[in-house]
Amino acid sequence: MVNKDDSIMVILSSPSGAGKTTISKKIQQKYQNFKISVSHTTRKPRPNEVEGVDYFFLKENEFKEKVKDNEFYEHAKIFGNYYGTSKKSVLDLLRNKNDILFDIDWQGTKQLSEHKELKLTKIFILPPSKEELKKRLIQRNQDKPEVVSERLKSYENDLAHQNDYDFVVINDNLETCFKEVEKIILLEKEKILE
Ligand code: ADP
Ligand code: 5GP
Repeated sequence: MVNKDDSIMVILSSPSGAGKTTISKKIQQKYQNFKISVSHTTRKPRPNEVEGVDYFFLKENEFKEKVKDNEFYEHAKIFGNYYGTSKKSVLDLLRNKNDILFDIDWQGTKQLSEHKELKLTKIFILPPSKEELKKRLIQRNQDKPEVVSERLKSYENDLAHQNDYDFVVINDNLETCFKEVEKIILLEKEKILE
């Protein structure tokens, strides 16, 4: 897999609920060239999620079949469900000369980083505190209480991986965080065009 022409590939990771999906969507809305890589998952859709937009939802045996057929660049088991980035989705975006946003966890980031030919920009988003993270997970109101507490439990372990990233940005005020992420990716884009 190689970056086609001037495309950049940005990974956004964070403890669950810190705001990476919100930020990715804002970038995609403002910059038409940035497209979010739509992952495959065995997790059940949340009430507001749309097939092919938020995820490709599939059964565990279907996911495992794709793993066997080597269809993923990376895949991981997270909170009891499987998630993966399909090669086809990424290659289609690169073929169209899009810039790509990956909303994936630290395990996927490690696997993608093994592809040395990729020009990845890795950003880790932090919540201002664990209390605020809990509030956001509850306010999102899309997951059952036991799912929320499972996600909160992995907070410290998630934090331990922030050193694997090029940038760490705190999402306290959404607009401020968005501007910071925007600045990083515009600078990275400029570097590639130099
Ligand atoms: P993630 O993708 O990291 O799991 P989301 O983007 O789904 O997180 O955000 C979790 C919840 O927090 C959502 O309800 C979102 O609207 C909210 N949120 C995101 N950023 C902020 C912020 N800076 N301040 C307050 N709430 C936020
Ligand atoms: P959620 O269930 O909240 O949508 O996502 C849970 C976690 O899975 C988040 O950390 C998200 O970034 C991660 N994730 C989503 N898609 C992928 C993927 O394709 N690969 C990996 N490794 N992680 C993913």
